[in-house]
Amino acid sequence: AVPARPDPAAGRAVHATDRAHVFHSWSAQGKIDPPAVAGAEGSSFWDYEGKRYLDFTSGLVFTNIGYAHPKVVAAIQEQAAKMCTFAPAFAIEARAEAARLIAERTPGDLDKIFFTNGGADAVEHAIRMARVHTGRPKVLSAYRSYHGGTEQAINLTGDPRRWASDTGTAGVVHFHAPHLYRTQFYAQTEEEECERALAHLEQTLVYEGPHTVAAVILETIPGTAGIMMPPPGYLAGVRALCDKYGLVFVLDEVMAGFGRTGTWFAADLYDAVPDLMTFAKGVNSGYVPLGGVAISEKIAATFEDRPYPGGLTYSGHPLACGAAVATLQVMAEEGIVEHAAHLGEHVIGPALRDMAERHPSIGEVRGTGVFWALDLVRDRETREPLVPYNATGPDNAPMADFAAAAKRNGLWPFVNMNRTHVVPPCTITEAELKEGLEVLDEALTAADAHTTAALGGAGA
Ligand code: PLP
Repeated sequence: AVPARPDPAAGRAVHATDRAHVFHSWSAQGKIDPPAVAGAEGSSFWDYEGKRYLDFTSGLVFTNIGYAHPKVVAAIQEQAAKMCTFAPAFAIEARAEAARLIAERTPGDLDKIFFTNGGADAVEHAIRMARVHTGRPKVLSAYRSYHGGTEQAINLTGDPRRWASDTGTAGVVHFHAPHLYRTQFYAQTEEEECERALAHLEQTLVYEGPHTVAAVILETIPGTAGIMMPPPGYLAGVRALCDKYGLVFVLDEVMAGFGRTGTWFAADLYDAVPDLMTFAKGVNSGYVPLGGVAISEKIAATFEDRPYPGGLTYSGHPLACGAAVATLQVMAEEGIVEHAAHLGEHVIGPALRDMAERHPSIGEVRGTGVFWALDLVRDRETREPLVPYNATGPDNAPMADFAAAAKRNGLWPFVNMNRTHVVPPCTITEAELKEGLEVLDEALTAADAHTTAALGGAGA
């Protein structure tokens, strides 16, 4: 519920204590001004002034069931009273049940679950499993990807967040996965782009020496990097290359998994079955930190007689697993995955395509379910991004102006480089969503101003 009485003084105190002691992720500490949040419910949160925002970001794309779902909150309270914590080497009801429910949803024979605290450590462990399984050192990973902030995961990441931490010794080789919109000079159709990407991947593999490569890791649909739906045949092609050269195929579903795509997993849209699949975020909507690796029979067999060399104090934490059990039950009972599919097909997709007709700043609309991106451009002909790659300060003004316009009208937008993503909770109501899309529509005129300015006032 909205707080009975706004309390700006309390907000200022929270903010001051935060600035005195909290060291924030990915930030120049002296240049940030974190908004003080008083509460959150469903698809909205509010500040201490009582201003409410519709959250089109789902936090960091993790509150798939929205904030404070009463059944999941109650399940966490029950679990806390029953067994708040227990070491990982024991069989615990919440942990066993969460693993069973996840295995039931994951594709193919991904029937064993290794639990972690989040997405990055899930990626770390998937790669370790692949290396031990194959006895090979290298991993191939896509540019335009994000796999997490820890040592191996950040080295696998293809975006600028890697640059400062790149050890150059992590055994990672990057390649260009499909992205037709920005490989227009090589491929004209999705089919040609799929062929280009598969040929490029195989060449990369051959020149690296397949006997040195343990795994290929891909986000099924890259999230932070821009929600690029892989063309038909691409994931099947990667699967075939992995089989041909004896590599482990890892799909990272940390962001795309658990309903966001309008299916339980993005892999379901493509009938893709990896050897290992990482997950986190939506597994329990981030109510308690949890991630993991879903493991196929083939990889699990490697560790039947041989110990798996890895573990975490909080692997399969009872509170996190209790939250996952309740989340997965709620998602099934309330038809949340189907709702996400409906919203994507009947509300978000049509609305964004309609905006693209009217806003010269929209270069491309991509997505599915509640997982959409608007690729904003200075010029539709050249597809030049609205802001330069990794822009900051005044160079980033067009995106900053857009975000400020949305926030003024009560919408919290997801902004990354020259893109805004429409990634609200899967549970957002149709009415809330339409309201948010109207604000987005209006805020895009702030982006258009820069596109129009870039074209000498002519529009596009
Ligand atoms: N993999 C993907 C695809 C992600 O989107 C993220 C986070 O956004 C991660 C891994 C890292 O997850 P975490 O931040 O929980 O470590």
